[in-house]
Amino acid sequence: MTILNCSAVTCVYNKDQLCSRGEIEVTGPEARIADETCCGSFRDRNEASVTNSTMESCGCEKINIDCKAQECTYNEHCRCTASAIDINGENASTQKDTCCGTFACKC
Ligand code: SF4
Repeated sequence: MTILNCSAVTCVYNKDQLCSRGEIEVTGPEARIADETCCGSFRDRNEASVTNSTMESCGCEKINIDCKAQECTYNEHCRCTASAIDINGENASTQKDTCCGTFACKC
């Protein structure tokens, strides 16, 4: 599994820059640069309906990543093989405001 550092602190799943979701999806099937990827699991803290289980689950350092950014050098059959990644998205209010900062194009 991959170590995930996430700066999207406006996301309902973000706990101290770790993710409490258990698994995330990174999108960007045509991406050639990091900004063309995004975290498809981002949910704005202010808009998401927050369940008790979401609030109580803690952030995990390691996480499964289902990644659609197939042009990334770390992508193997939609799994991320990087040892650690950074999801960027300070002040994000939508998924499009986030990206995988570790994306490195094979191209
Ligand atoms: S490093 Fe590459 S394979 Fe891993 S999540 Fe980011 S874009 Fe996807």
